[in-house]
Amino acid sequence: MLVFAKIKSVQKKLKSLKNGTTIGFVPTMGALHEGHLSLVEKAKKENDIVVVSIFVNPTQFDNVEDLINYPKTIDKDLELLKSIFCDIVFTPTPEEIYANDIQSQSFDFDGLEFQMEGKFREGHFNGVGTIVERLFEIVKPHKAYFGEKDFQQIQIIRKMAEKRNLPVQIISCPIHRENDGLAMSSRNIRLTKEQRADAPFIYETLNKAKIQFGTKNASEVLKCVENEFKNHPLFTLEYFEIADEDTLLPVETKNSTKKYRAFIAIFAGKVRLIDNISL
Ligand code: AMP
Repeated sequence: MLVFAKIKSVQKKLKSLKNGTTIGFVPTMGALHEGHLSLVEKAKKENDIVVVSIFVNPTQFDNVEDLINYPKTIDKDLELLKSIFCDIVFTPTPEEIYANDIQSQSFDFDGLEFQMEGKFREGHFNGVGTIVERLFEIVKPHKAYFGEKDFQQIQIIRKMAEKRNLPVQIISCPIHRENDGLAMSSRNIRLTKEQRADAPFIYETLNKAKIQFGTKNASEVLKCVENEFKNHPLFTLEYFEIADEDTLLPVETKNSTKKYRAFIAIFAGKVRLIDNISL
């Protein structure tokens, strides 16, 4: 496994590959877990070589404290990637990516950016668009792999690839969960013992919502979810929404020709967790 921190070095290596070599790319912010590794495994199956980037992108954080506290486990990450035979890891510094100008470009994602995460994390998707486009430019992947854990992010990246005619196929991968249902996340290691023990409550709530949406309208389901969280001693609900998978617009009633998902964001103390479920 080769590890490069410089753009020029990774590009030199990628340019030296035989013509026709297919490149699969998995962008991450590190603190890797099995969810990330499942993306790498899929990329390995579908491409000749796999590049993983590890970069905690400052421009997608709306909260400095969250950026500072974002878990960093680079040695363990590299060991894990080596153990599953990843080919190339790209670990740039913010200066390498942004030089002296750590700023986002402004994107128009046809309104996808104003829903859910966009309402609560100002500038987040401009930061995501900026870094993903920059990494695509550097790595020039044939296929790029993203997890449904960040479902809105996948739709935004698909939109960016479509609008900017980027020559890359965006592949979505299912959510990996702990045995008790909690969606794997780098942030889970910041939970206290008590918060971690109660965290399956998030996925349980999504599953209940899924059953309820069979017979109830979205606003009734939302009321039930709000009630579940109202008296919870450890978790605060930030949002719960049932939305159309394609437009991400909120829906009220079920229409059998459309695909829906329920999305949730909660705070456990200062740790923010998100999850979603197909309905
Ligand atoms: P992150 O390091 O959190 O930016 O995540 C990097 C990629 O891994 C993103 O495409 C995420 O959606 C994906 N990912 C994170 N957690 C999971 C999970 N539990 N299951 C599947 N994919 C995930």
